[in-house]
Amino acid sequence: MRLVTLGTSAAYPTIERASSGYLVNEGKTNILMDLGSGVFRNLLRWVDPSDLSAIIISHLHQDHFIDIYPMYYYLAFHRSEHLPINVYAPEGARDFILQIFSGVSGSRLDAVYSFKSLKDRMFFNIGSIKCQSIKVKHTPMAFGIRLTSQYIISYSSDTAFNEALYDIAADSDIFICEATKQDDYKDILHLTATQAGIIARKANVKNLMLTHIWPDFDPARSQQMAAEQYDGPIIIAEDNMEIYLDS
Ligand SMILES: [Zn+2]
Repeated sequence: MRLVTLGTSAAYPTIERASSGYLVNEGKTNILMDLGSGVFRNLLRWVDPSDLSAIIISHLHQDHFIDIYPMYYYLAFHRSEHLPINVYAPEGARDFILQIFSGVSGSRLDAVYSFKSLKDRMFFNIGSIKCQSIKVKHTPMAFGIRLTSQYIISYSSDTAFNEALYDIAADSDIFICEATKQDDYKDILHLTATQAGIIARKANVKNLMLTHIWPDFDPARSQQMAAEQYDGPIIIAEDNMEIYLDS
């Protein structure tokens, strides 16, 4: 099982970082989790998008899905044999996304993407990988994702602190956790790095990856905050990191 970070910024891309996106690969199974601005471009370095097994969109904030637009043109013009590609996303995603596709009819969109609704505590298989979506605390509706095969890779999506995060992260080999905040502004539905560390410790995570850190913040401080709560390895996510989980 391999994890490639394709986008690690929060809210907007920076010179160094695209918005959110992660590729999980095992054999011929390629799962793209989220595709914010710049993720499609980074994806091209690693895999032919025609070879994606499925896409998961954790929630409908632009920094987590907007590159579905350029991806559409790539897939439509390359006439991949694998179309339509399954897109697991919150309910209503198809009609919401269709609104931004000027000049593309619903039937043309459906020829490229087959939207499936994520539900709380839903299991589904993508290739060799067992997937589970678990609802987290964010607006609009958002789902953390747990990918299980020989190893477990889990992803918080965007969320305020809530108990479901322990189930998402439980015993993960890598827990990709948003750590947008360094101070606890309660009106923003995101995690602090301190909270990410607490979740990692209580959920018995083997490696904690901090991502989605607000662009103005020093990631070293976020790492230090998490390390005060969690003794295991902490990775500060950067774009195009390739992490192999091997026995
Ligand atoms: Zn969000």
